[in-house]
Amino acid sequence: MEITGLNFIGNDLSGEGDEIFPAINPANGTKLLPGFHDAVLQEIDKAAFKAHNAFHTYSKKNGKEKAVFLEIIAQEILSLGDILIERCHEETGLPKTRVVSERGRTVNQLKLFAELLRDGSWVEARIDTAIPERQPVPKPDIRSMYKPLGPAGIFGASNFPLAFSVAGGDTASALAAGCTVIFKAHPSHPGTCELTASAIINAVKKSGMPDGTFSMVHGQSNNPGMAIVKHPLIKAIGFTGSFKGGKAIFDAAAKRVEPIPVYAEMGSTNPVFILPGALKERKGEIAKGLTDSVILGTGQFCTNPGLVFYEDSEDSFKFLNAAAENIKNSSAGVMLSSGIQASYRDGIKNILNQKGIELIAEGKSSGINCEGISCLLGTTADVFLSDDLFEEEIFGPSTLAVNTRNKAQLLEAAQSLSGHLTATIHASHEDLIDYKDLIEVLEGKAGRLIINGYPTGVEVCHSMMHGGPFPATTDSRSTSVGTLAINRFVRPVCFQNFSDELLPHELKNGNPLKIWRLVNGERTRDKVS
Ligand code: NAP
Repeated sequence: MEITGLNFIGNDLSGEGDEIFPAINPANGTKLLPGFHDAVLQEIDKAAFKAHNAFHTYSKKNGKEKAVFLEIIAQEILSLGDILIERCHEETGLPKTRVVSERGRTVNQLKLFAELLRDGSWVEARIDTAIPERQPVPKPDIRSMYKPLGPAGIFGASNFPLAFSVAGGDTASALAAGCTVIFKAHPSHPGTCELTASAIINAVKKSGMPDGTFSMVHGQSNNPGMAIVKHPLIKAIGFTGSFKGGKAIFDAAAKRVEPIPVYAEMGSTNPVFILPGALKERKGEIAKGLTDSVILGTGQFCTNPGLVFYEDSEDSFKFLNAAAENIKNSSAGVMLSSGIQASYRDGIKNILNQKGIELIAEGKSSGINCEGISCLLGTTADVFLSDDLFEEEIFGPSTLAVNTRNKAQLLEAAQSLSGHLTATIHASHEDLIDYKDLIEVLEGKAGRLIINGYPTGVEVCHSMMHGGPFPATTDSRSTSVGTLAINRFVRPVCFQNFSDELLPHELKNGNPLKIWRLVNGERTRDKVS
């Protein structure tokens, strides 16, 4: 399949703009053909009108129809075969094995949402039947359920070119909710974006969804993305990427005449706490597991463990030495782009310029283009507590080990933290009893708490929470991974005193879809008598 470098404005290919940018292979710095057209405002406008018009039809499709659509997208992605794997590998430097497994995750994510739609109960149907004889005033018949918000703008990150990109979790959840989507392609993997978008457009056509259900626009400059955020017909934004990008988009959306929700999942440092009993029992094993997690995928995960806290002891000294050894033995991998590499290099340089920060160990250079060399940095809790800078994400294979004097200072460090995607505790059975207060503190700081594991690797399932308090996200009530992500793109709508014929199927007395509903306060699949 040929990559055109054009935008998908609904089902039509379009390249009205003169600004053309290339994809770059980060492994050797070469430009890849063809050039990609930055979308211009007229194209964004057309895409928004198409998304708006399509929404009227698409939002009324039933769960089964939308499920079939998502399943066809999954099939079409697989049908792209090696061309997708090859292009993605070339544009990102990610090993082909990783790209294949990410494709599997992307396809399974779409299928999981399809299952959710077939079941149908996700709409949270609630029914309170009328009590006309109630005194002093009769109780009306009130029913509610979730309905889609409208056309959504979605932004993907560079580090997940499939699973957090064109057909990733944000797009899958928005389409599942019944929203139409305009996707802003990431300029560091534009060819991968175009191939995946073509799979979605094929699925739109094959499943009879309206033109405008999905659009994808390129943009190396921020203009096309900002035009999506500011367009009056866009009703929600899903974003995955850096804090800088997410916050800029959130602020722009808040300044609109009609502000809209922005679900920005941003960076995180993912603190890890290693408690004394665990250090005594498993210091070597934890040092290996933790540093493997730091260097995995050249550290380019939002769940990378970038902060490690422990109490000063003979065991912690040995732990740090073992961790340093593993870092020293690691070889640098290719980073996603020269921009990401420059940010990583500058971030490390900047933190090492701060008083009280030491470079404990550094990995080996591989002599390749765009390499990311692993770093183990160290400091004391006194230094850590003196400046918020030390909590900021340095996106890449590094971690900062923070030595605390005692339990009180460990707790003080935990209390000082802002919001993160995850927080991890390594603990013995006794530690878990002695440090109950630490777990309570961390519950207020992160979306996902992990005991005796590592934060990298995010399971796509019904109970996953991939989010967290600000600055990890702009809305701590939401997740961008797992089926709960669908709730970001809906709002509850209430129907009062509607006759059965007028009600949506989900709320009719006979429960024709046989979904779970809350009827007069009881969860049931029964009909309303
Ligand atoms: P990024 O530079 O913020 O890019 C994400 C997208 O936002 C791109 O399409 C980018 O387009 C756009 N963008 C950025 N700033 C913008 C602005 N001011 N106005 C309009 N659009 C803007 O992020 P990245 O470097 O690709 O991804 C790495 C980051 O993502 C890391 O911090 C990582 O932790 C985070 N991440 C978070 C999660 C999560 O779930 N929380 C998952 C994966 C990654 P341009 O490139 O054209 O600016």
